Amino acid sequence: MDPGRKFISGIVPPAKQSEPAWWFAFQENKLLVFQEPSSVGIPCLVDFGELGLPELSRHYLGHLDGRHCYAIQLADDAPPPKEMTLEGLRQIYGRLDEDLFWIATRAVQIVDWDRTHKFCGRCGSQLRLKTTERAKECPKCGLLHFPRLAPAIIVLVERGDKLLLARSRHFMPGMYSVLAGFVEPGESLEEAVIREVKEEVGVTVKDIRYFGSQPWPFPHSLMIGFTATCASGEISLDDSEIEDAGWFTADTLPQIPGKISIARKLIDWFLDKQGRMP
Ligand SMILES: [Zn+2]
Repeated sequence: MDPGRKFISGIVPPAKQSEPAWWFAFQENKLLVFQEPSSVGIPCLVDFGELGLPELSRHYLGHLDGRHCYAIQLADDAPPPKEMTLEGLRQIYGRLDEDLFWIATRAVQIVDWDRTHKFCGRCGSQLRLKTTERAKECPKCGLLHFPRLAPAIIVLVERGDKLLLARSRHFMPGMYSVLAGFVEPGESLEEAVIREVKEEVGVTVKDIRYFGSQPWPFPHSLMIGFTATCASGEISLDDSEIEDAGWFTADTLPQIPGKISIARKLIDWFLDKQGRMP
C-alpha cells in the first residue's frame, strides 16, 4: 500500500451510501474493469445498481482514504456493460492502481469464500453471514465458518554467490522460481521451510530468516517468505512436483517470475545483495 494512503478493513457498511464508492465486482474470479488507454479502472459510483448488472451478493470491505469499498458477486451469465470487460487479476497487475489491486485480491477471496461455503460442514444447514465479523454461522448447530486461508512458505536458499531456483511441472516453459509449499497442520513455519526444501530438492537448510509476506489470491493462499542458506546436500529430485533445479548466479539467471510476486521480491533482494540492482 502506498504509505500516503490508508485502507481500513471493515464489516459493517454505512447506513446509507451517499458518496461514490469503489465497486470490486467479480464474475467467477474475473474483475469488472473499464479500459483506459494504458491502464484499467474500476467503477467508482454512488450506486452500483446504476450499471444494471444482476448481483448475487454484496460484501462491505472497508474504506480507502475514507472512500468505501465493496465486493460484489455478479451473476455468472451477466455480460459486462459496454466499454467494460471482465479480467483475471494476474492480467491486470501493473495496469490497475496498486492499492486498488490489493483490495481486489481481498475482495475476490471474500466473494469466492461466500460462493463456495453455503452449507454447514457439520450438519448441512444453510449458513448465514455474521454481521459483526467476517464469518458465517450455522443457525442450527452454531458452528462458525471463517474465510479459507492456506498458509504457504516460500524460501530463497543461498549458497555463496548462488541461489537455488527450481522448475515446477506447472510453470510456463522456461520459468524458474524459488521453492514454495503449503504448511501442514501441526508444523511451524520454520519446520515447513526445512521439510519443503529437503523434499523438493534434497538440500538441508539453516539460518532461516523471515523476509515478508504477501496475500496470494490464487485462490486463497498467504505466502510467508524466508531466506535460508544451504547447510549440506546436493540437489536431487525425488519429488514429482519439480522437473529441474539448480544453483544460479546473478549472471546466469533463467526466466524468473514477474514483479507481482513475493518470489520476485526475494530474487531481487538477492540480486541487490550481489550488487546487481534488479
Ligand atoms: Zn451446522
